[in-house]
Amino acid sequence: MKKTSEHWKLAPAPEDRSQATIASHYDLFIDGKFQKSAKGKRFKSINPADEKVLSEITESTDADVDKAVKAARKAYEGEWGKLSGKERGKYLYRIARIIQEKARELAIIESLDGGKPIRESRDIDVPLAAAHFFYYAGWADKLDYAFPGRKPRPLGVAGQVIPWNFPLLMAAWKIAPALACGNTVVIKPAENTSLTALKLAEIIQEAELPPGVVNIITGHGKVGAAIIGHKDIDKIAFTGSTGVGKLIQRSIAGTHKKATLELGGKAANIIFEDATLDEAVEGIVNGIYFNQGHVCCAGSRLYVEESVHDEVIRRLKHRMGTLIVGDPMDKNTDIGAINSSEQLETIQKYIGIGKKEGASFYQPACSLPKKGFWCPPTLFTDVAQSNRIAQEEIFGPVLAVQSFRTVDEVIKKANNTPYGLSAGVWTDKGSKIFNLTSQLHAGVIWANTFNKFDPTSPFGGFKESGFGREGGMHGLAAYLDF
Ligand code: NAP
Ligand code: MG
Repeated sequence: MKKTSEHWKLAPAPEDRSQATIASHYDLFIDGKFQKSAKGKRFKSINPADEKVLSEITESTDADVDKAVKAARKAYEGEWGKLSGKERGKYLYRIARIIQEKARELAIIESLDGGKPIRESRDIDVPLAAAHFFYYAGWADKLDYAFPGRKPRPLGVAGQVIPWNFPLLMAAWKIAPALACGNTVVIKPAENTSLTALKLAEIIQEAELPPGVVNIITGHGKVGAAIIGHKDIDKIAFTGSTGVGKLIQRSIAGTHKKATLELGGKAANIIFEDATLDEAVEGIVNGIYFNQGHVCCAGSRLYVEESVHDEVIRRLKHRMGTLIVGDPMDKNTDIGAINSSEQLETIQKYIGIGKKEGASFYQPACSLPKKGFWCPPTLFTDVAQSNRIAQEEIFGPVLAVQSFRTVDEVIKKANNTPYGLSAGVWTDKGSKIFNLTSQLHAGVIWANTFNKFDPTSPFGGFKESGFGREGGMHGLAAYLDF
């Protein structure tokens, strides 16, 4: 298969990184100010596309976590707790508008720090982050209407921990509903993608949110554990791996803390012979290669009806050959850098497992940059349901394909994983869509599309994909007591 650049000879279209300001180091955002940690230790945040250091981030200590929780408690019991929903809403609108004003800078930093293509940061991550604040701003003064007759009250201080795949967007998913409902927040971004959360701290300052309402502290997993274990936290919102989710659930058993856990996934993307195959191929590509496959709801298991299996794979391989892998800052790029060397190792380990398990391996020819962490789009056909590449979350651009003959068979196979986060169905028949959506054990099911997100729509999983919903009215309920 020839490379796209040979087909199309696209000139590079790099985004201008001078449009973004990144400080040489960042302190912790506590009580409305950037403050130094008592110990003052720092770690480096690098650009995964060239391994260069972008900035230094503060490693929080237990004392810093305690200070942040105290600031959040004080704000909750003080000014913020007394504010009307209408006034809270105004702050959220303000944050949303400033995100829009700074959209270009935020998109650049998101791509530099995390490796995702600038087109995705610009068109998906940042606009959706603003949309979440706008959406929940609208709810802040309407909680009584959302839950008529139930007198909703905020829970108190929310402790929130988020992953590295959608850093700013996950921060927005967490902070916006918490504030709309009148809570205060202590949040920790993932260690290797803290920069846009720290930029959000600057935005929050600019919006003049009362001090302590949002505290953004950085560091490794043990800082997350310290937030979750802090006795004065009332609500936990965690997005991350199922392994850490299980640890969290164990650690809060028997406490007063409420929790929502948004964990891993292994979504089935199901193609019937009556689907529009070219559209389905776009949906397959978007399902698994979007954001390098670092997507909890990625369509990482493909089920194709046997009669069209070979044709779909032929078209898919052709399309994979046109995907441009490389510089995330180039607007032509489809697949950017893998987020970290550790994640690349995990992906390569699973590619090795797939080969050993006897599946047929395919990657289009593409030349990868010398520095940085890269993985071409990868396809395994002849996969068995019991193979580890069909059961375990890889969190990379690796697709495991199986064929099926009957509707019952594909429903059984699709439901046969420990996860239940999302699924996709491609068919011309509405009745088939309704049949499948009622039988697939997945929190989100897309029909004739994939990986579409909207703040009005609840998102969350079944089984080991976690519990609780974010987004929509359901997302409010997670931050309220009745
Ligand atoms: P992760 O290792 O579980 O980390 C998630 C966050 O938890 C990070 O901020 C991490 O800190 C922190 N953390 C690590 N150990 C902790 C502990 N013992 N206690 C408290 N916090 C701890 O997950 P990840 O590798 O960053 O993210 C990928 C996973 O997230 C995938 O499984 C994916 O499916 C899932 N995800 C789910 C959703 C959803 O909505 N369901 C959305 C996106 C991602 P550091 O990273 O800084 O060490
Ligand atoms: Mg980074």
